[in-house]
Amino acid sequence: MRLSRYFLPILKEAPSDAQIVSHQLMLRAGMIKQEAAGIYAWLPLGLRVLRKIENIVREEQVKAGAVELLMPTLQLADLWRESGRYDAYGPEMLRITDRHERELLYGPTNEEMVTDIFRGFVKSYKSLPLNLFHIQWKFRDERRPRFGVMRGREFLMKDAYSFDIDEASARIAYKRMFAAYLNTFARLGLKAVPMRADTGPIGGDLSHEFIVLAETGESEVFCDRKLVEMAPPGHDLSVEQLEGVFTERTALYAATEEMHDAAQFETQTAEGDRLSARGIEVGHIFYFGTKYSAAMKANVQGPNGKDAPVHMGSYGVGVSRLLGAIIEASHDAGGIIWPDAVAPFDVVVINLRASDEAVSAACEEAVAKLEAAGKDVLYDDTDERPGGKFATADLIGVPWQLTIGPKGLAEGVVELKRRATGEKQSLSLDAALELLT
Ligand code: ATP
Ligand code: MG
Ligand code: MG
Ligand code: MG
Repeated sequence: MRLSRYFLPILKEAPSDAQIVSHQLMLRAGMIKQEAAGIYAWLPLGLRVLRKIENIVREEQVKAGAVELLMPTLQLADLWRESGRYDAYGPEMLRITDRHERELLYGPTNEEMVTDIFRGFVKSYKSLPLNLFHIQWKFRDERRPRFGVMRGREFLMKDAYSFDIDEASARIAYKRMFAAYLNTFARLGLKAVPMRADTGPIGGDLSHEFIVLAETGESEVFCDRKLVEMAPPGHDLSVEQLEGVFTERTALYAATEEMHDAAQFETQTAEGDRLSARGIEVGHIFYFGTKYSAAMKANVQGPNGKDAPVHMGSYGVGVSRLLGAIIEASHDAGGIIWPDAVAPFDVVVINLRASDEAVSAACEEAVAKLEAAGKDVLYDDTDERPGGKFATADLIGVPWQLTIGPKGLAEGVVELKRRATGEKQSLSLDAALELLT
């Protein structure tokens, strides 16, 4: 991608209403533009990162056995009347009436709709277990939309729904998603800690929020330090291994403010391991049994020939919120530092003198070879001065910067900089390309 042909509206300064660094940097880097409170247009650079995150989330869901579908954003109010949530949901729900006076709503979540799809087709335990997910825009009319994409009103969520014949099997489905979330967040370059969350009227121990520690997080959290550094569990785990992953994590104390028990924290955790911090909720998983299936008559026939409501869980990831969370966890004074896996481009090739034919030819060669090796390349072919080019490259956080200028080229060298460490090396173009591909 040539920067001269791209759309990257960089801002010199962040608008004063952006209070936290991720929001400021997303605006300055030309990733998003606010269209209304909590509603954003995704500009090309922001969209690239959103898609990369979405794909990692998707891949990990599929690896865990979930099956993707796509449900619409608009839902019938009548469906929500069946579960009793139409009135209970309150002012966070955006309600819409069509020309025929039918009441609709812009979905804030999809338990009702997925239960309706399920009951329409699945009648027997032989089709279970089943896990259906989609990645779709949600709308919640938040009282205080703020911090950019972190608390939007329109936001992108991955939501999965598990269906099982009984509680024992539903608990396995839950633990499979628990492990999938650990893998997902690790791939995104994040340290996300599963913390006990409120299960509401259902009770039990099966609700966890996945929290990324950050000073600007909205929740106060308490946990055992050891949880932060634990390696992800990996894939294709047997039921025993899943149990092991779950038990190992949940044996250590971790709770958000609402669930915090100071006395228990102290008995369960050595003083040196006690961590109290602020955190961002990037995911939330929940087993809710037959709450929706009983109300909506989503029954399946068991091996005994009897019909019973299916056992369900739901599993959310805040895909668009993750951009903010990743930036909060990974930036410096110069701008964003994208983890390799989600970076909008893998490398930016910086042409220090676009008017120089030899320099441009070397840049074009570098771009072509990198692209042939499957890299996403941004080519800064503009005639801006070098200082501005370096500042832009740092701001947008591309992991590698390959700089080619007339002086170096005359000596047979280019400069390669790693954004995260600032480390620079002078080497031949061939050696640089070797290193990058
Ligand atoms: P919060 O406590 O931040 O309001 P929630 O508990 O209401 O979130 P859930 O219903 O658990 O959210 O939704 C699943 C995930 O969707 C959350 O873990 C979060 O990552 C994301 N999410 C929820 N609300 C928003 C929002 N307004 N903007 C962006 N992401 C959101
Ligand atoms: Mg909320
Ligand atoms: Mg919450
Ligand atoms: Mg939640």
